[in-house]
Amino acid sequence: MSERFFVSEPITGDHAKLDGPEAHHLLHVMRAAVGTTATLFDNSGAEFTAVVETTRRSEATLRVTERREINRELTFPLAIGIALPKGDRQKWLVEKLTELGVSSLVPLVTERGVAQPTTSAIERLARAVIEAAKQCGRNRLMQIAEPQSLDSFLKSPMAGDIRSPGCRRLIAHPHAPSLATLDIKTPLPTLIAIGPEGGFTDAEVTCALTAGWQQVSLGQSILRVETAAIALAAALAIGGRSAENA
Ligand code: SAH
Repeated sequence: MSERFFVSEPITGDHAKLDGPEAHHLLHVMRAAVGTTATLFDNSGAEFTAVVETTRRSEATLRVTERREINRELTFPLAIGIALPKGDRQKWLVEKLTELGVSSLVPLVTERGVAQPTTSAIERLARAVIEAAKQCGRNRLMQIAEPQSLDSFLKSPMAGDIRSPGCRRLIAHPHAPSLATLDIKTPLPTLIAIGPEGGFTDAEVTCALTAGWQQVSLGQSILRVETAAIALAAALAIGGRSAENA
């Protein structure tokens, strides 16, 4: 796989333009010149081979020579609602969840949450998604949704199919029944909720259970928010994949 670049406009014709951070990466980090071959993706699920045709200081035009449908997504939608940790841990979390194939992340506003998801923080995270997708080969970006209250996340569907009878809704909570008691090999549309460092309140957990969610524990240790999210996402992503290969 040659170096990958993200094009924010859907690639429909035989040319694509890179600007902003992507042009910077191509021209000033990779030092590409006219004739250099690159791989492009545009969040459509396809990837493209393209050759640099013209360059300017902060912009490049590439001629698209091949389009390939390459699906590196999970076989089921996996959405995570999470009370975001602070600072650099947010970016790290977003990077790892993108690599694991999570379809969407919803920043949650919970009773004990500390980091309020600001617009600029969400924009920084969207950039981290692009960087991770470039590196790991995903041709679709993990979506970062608008922040939501826990209550609305618990009750509202992320997508039509998430509400269907054959879907999983798991709230991660220490001292709950172990995840090991669940069948995680069946690839079902899945929603996960992860609480803040202070944990979910009893009222929040009750609200989730009333709304038809299952509480699951990830072991005896109290994990940081991002560790819990990654552990649960990894278990589901790998569990679902093993059914696929069975
Ligand atoms: N003192 C809090 C711990 C919060 S840890 C409490 O007792 O609830 C932050 C979040 O990570 C939790 O709300 C939960 O969603 C998740 N988490 C951490 N450790 C976990 C574990 N062992 N099992 C399940 N979820 C866990």
